[in-house]
Amino acid sequence: MITLKDIQDARQRIQNVVFETPILQSEHLSNLCRNQLFLKAEHLQKTGSFKIRGASNMVIHAIENGARHVTAASSGNHGQAVAYVANKYGISSTIVVPENASQCKINAILGYNGQVEKCGTTSAERLPRAKQIADDQNGTYIPPYDDPLIMAGQGTVGLEILQQLHNIDAIIVPIGGGGLISGILTAVKETNPSIQIIGVEPELAQDTYLSLQNNKITAIPETHTIADGLRTNQPGDLTFPVLSKYLDDLVLISEEEIRMAFSFVLERMKQLIEPSSAITVAAALYNKINMQGKNIVTLISGGNVDIQHVHGIFEDTTKFSLLHTNV
Ligand SMILES: *Cc1c(COP(=O)(O)O)cnc(C)c1O
Repeated sequence: MITLKDIQDARQRIQNVVFETPILQSEHLSNLCRNQLFLKAEHLQKTGSFKIRGASNMVIHAIENGARHVTAASSGNHGQAVAYVANKYGISSTIVVPENASQCKINAILGYNGQVEKCGTTSAERLPRAKQIADDQNGTYIPPYDDPLIMAGQGTVGLEILQQLHNIDAIIVPIGGGGLISGILTAVKETNPSIQIIGVEPELAQDTYLSLQNNKITAIPETHTIADGLRTNQPGDLTFPVLSKYLDDLVLISEEEIRMAFSFVLERMKQLIEPSSAITVAAALYNKINMQGKNIVTLISGGNVDIQHVHGIFEDTTKFSLLHTNV
């Protein structure tokens, strides 16, 4: 398992690449949640998500060990982050994307001088291809979450929160493959174990919830939750043991609750965040966490939303006021 030291090393390694992102607050949101809410704004991070933290830690490490080429299998935030770091350090990258990847995501990768290769529609097809290109070109394949360097890089956001805020009671973190939360768990629990870490998954992608219940990694079929960063269908071999050891609670959120939180943050706070991040605000808004009067950090993991899709996510937030007065 990774240690606090790995995360401190990562912080050093990536300090010239990542921003220290701000903490945002809304009095209205805090009142509705009956807790003080602090939004850790990784949607304002370089490349628009925290994924740059793990990607830069592993890519820089690879370069230190002689790599001149890196590959990844993701059209989303991870692929963009890998292409960005490779370009910044003057090496080439190939990002393997699905045949149906949106042009705006492909353009983001091309904008960072990444080479794009289309392959199949499932990650089962893309992953071997990205590994093969890495082998052929004497490069390094950069996985999205299940690697100690990736997990340690993501954990740097945990160290940052601990420095920015004191007297935190809980941190709410979204779970896809578990790289982000396993890094944060290690950073926080090895520093101040009294802080509660609460994981969040969509009801439609509850693979980690089921895995924890079954006490072993459990896969779910393909899912279409609007939280597209959380569609991973099983936790990682390396991430899952960290969650089993440290996680305090895991709550599930419906699609409507995600949309409502997304709309609320856009309308009230003027922040465009991904549904995969709105899920943490939803956990607080719908008080899934069973807390009152506490200082709670919600991790806003990213802000890359295809602008054309925004109207499809948007909910009428007056519905929320009605709902809330009935509680
Ligand atoms: C990748 C991602 C997640 C999930 O992170 P994991 O490390 O896979 O658990 C959450 N939100 C956004 C915006 C992401 O890009």
